[in-house]
Amino acid sequence: MKKTALLAALLLATPLLAQPGPRGGKGNGPGAGVPAAPAANPFAAYFASLPKEPLGSAEAAEIAFLREEEKLARDVYRALFAAHGDRAFANIAAAEQRHMDLVKLLLDRYELADPAATTAPGEFKDSRLAALYTDLVAKGKVSLVEALKVGATIEDLDLADVAKALAAADNRDIDAVMQNLAKGSRNHLRAFAGRLSALGAPYAAQYLPADEVARILAAPRERGAVDETGKLLPGTGTGPGRMGRGRGRGMGAGNGTGTCDGTGPGAGTGPGAGFGPGDGTGAGCPNR
Ligand code: MN
Ligand code: MN
Repeated sequence: MKKTALLAALLLATPLLAQPGPRGGKGNGPGAGVPAAPAANPFAAYFASLPKEPLGSAEAAEIAFLREEEKLARDVYRALFAAHGDRAFANIAAAEQRHMDLVKLLLDRYELADPAATTAPGEFKDSRLAALYTDLVAKGKVSLVEALKVGATIEDLDLADVAKALAAADNRDIDAVMQNLAKGSRNHLRAFAGRLSALGAPYAAQYLPADEVARILAAPRERGAVDETGKLLPGTGTGPGRMGRGRGRGMGAGNGTGTCDGTGPGAGTGPGAGFGPGDGTGAGCPNR
């Protein structure tokens, strides 16, 4: 009896081991954590189909800035994951890396220098971003609630900046990348603000108008990749069998015994595992 209790305690203490976790729970979704066949990234194919158009100097500057702004999000979330061990930060940091990769598509296509080519965590060419990194990491280390506020703040800022960049740019390929960054940020804002509400500390808008933030939070989580107008790309949507074609990372809920931040035992069988293209938020959870 005692041995059983000890074993149970050990299993609870090692939640990320998918085996031999207690698999008593049942998945609640299509559970396509691993794609049947390695399909090409639908967005990459779409991006490649778009014309390379003349680049304005404002557009070049925006692309470089956005590359570093995505790095700010990634680096801050990595630091806050290290501070608190909350999986949401690890998952969303991985999504920010994918956002950095999207911006890199533009840097490469237009042969622009990469401001994030060799910089270490927390290092930025842009001094405003460097100062924000220091400030936000310090604030977020104070507590999990403060960390979640920092997360919501970064997404709020990203959305405000991407909206400006979208207004300034007209190349279809640039707009397409930015629309996908914005879509991811809306999902991340939903995830962080949802956690904050559940903890009794609802997020107050700082960069976007408050009614815009409220509108985003009232809308459901967005799946799939979008085009330069924000419209869902064919083949990346929400239909059965498409969910969870992401990365097979298995971090979402989807196990009767798991928790919504993806720390439960036997993780990896969930509905899409919270890893649709472009974000790292769990499906089926209060924070979706
Ligand atoms: Mn992002
Ligand atoms: Mn984000």
